[in-house]
Amino acid sequence: MALNSYYADLHIHIGRTEAGEAVKISAANNLTFFGIAKEASQRKGMDIVGIIDCHSPGVQRDMLRYLDTGGMEELAGGGIRYHQSTVLLGCELEVRDPGMRPAHLIAYLPGIEDMRSFTDWLRRHMKNVQLSSQRLYVPARELQQEVIGRGGILVPAHIFTPHKSVYGSSCERMSELLDLDGIAAVELGLSADSEMAGWISELDRYTFLTNSDAHSLPKIGREYNKLRLAEPTFAELRRALNGEDGRKVLANYGLNPRLGKYHRTYCAACESILDEQGATVVERCLYCGSTKIVRGVMDRILSISDRERPFVPESRPPYVYQVPLEFIPGLGPKLLAALLERFGTEMDLLHRTSYEELAEAAGERIAGYLLAARQGTLELQTGGGGKYGKVGR
Ligand SMILES: [Zn+2]
Ligand SMILES: [Zn+2]
Repeated sequence: MALNSYYADLHIHIGRTEAGEAVKISAANNLTFFGIAKEASQRKGMDIVGIIDCHSPGVQRDMLRYLDTGGMEELAGGGIRYHQSTVLLGCELEVRDPGMRPAHLIAYLPGIEDMRSFTDWLRRHMKNVQLSSQRLYVPARELQQEVIGRGGILVPAHIFTPHKSVYGSSCERMSELLDLDGIAAVELGLSADSEMAGWISELDRYTFLTNSDAHSLPKIGREYNKLRLAEPTFAELRRALNGEDGRKVLANYGLNPRLGKYHRTYCAACESILDEQGATVVERCLYCGSTKIVRGVMDRILSISDRERPFVPESRPPYVYQVPLEFIPGLGPKLLAALLERFGTEMDLLHRTSYEELAEAAGERIAGYLLAARQGTLELQTGGGGKYGKVGR
């Protein structure tokens, strides 16, 4: 079978069901199962989207309705097809093993029947199975067994973010929490890239994923992966994460974490960035005295690193610093709509439309920015105070 390239964003939350039941309370209302599939196919040009929260019975009702009425189709290799995109079925859970702080883990399962039976198991071990990212009252290793036993894969989510992640809050070595052989890949999250992850030797063997963790439609695709697959299905994704028969992750696209809000240690009360150098660990804000210190991801990584310097294995695909379209100066909603109308999807603008066509439609300056974004050379200034900066060129 011939192999092709596909763009994939595997972490998108549901806000509500179509009946209006809340799933992820902090996510947008129009983030429904159908709304995401349509946005991915029509506007984003995302070939594969992982919809997290497919364990929610209300979401499953929506899925079954679209499968029945013919707009969507379940694939033999796992996943659901809607026009140009494949939806993969995911579920994010919070585990908290004895003596550890919480960590988020994502389970992906092949089909809707697998997900429904997983829900039956989940509802016995959590308080409200309707909601997203809920605490699961079983040991992490038991969850892992359960997912793998159902033909699924387990991926630790946004592994370095403070508060709710494997390395950010739960443990110093993933082996304390999980069986290392039962992890399909790890998700870097918005606050880390391949080089930062290279400080921890236990990660050398794993494929890295970069996903948006979108809580609204526009954020879909702010981070994504380029995969080489025979077809866009769950079975092929699993092979790509294992690097089998030429299937692989070809590139990770993500924001430059050095510009993000969790890179440096900062004070959550006054939002000042606190300079931590060497072994100095700040306990109180130097500016306002608050103890609400959020440890920066880089500081956390250095404190748990088992290396002198980061190591990036040769087999690791490139990590491309992608500037989302919303950050391109002069590219307002109206012009963007016109470009999409003419050239297709956001992935077309970011990867396929030629400079000449872009320049003719949007002017040379914006075409230049888009080309630089494509090549990973467009630079954002450091935002500071918890925010991303502007494009500075
Ligand atoms: Zn999470
Ligand atoms: Zn999430």
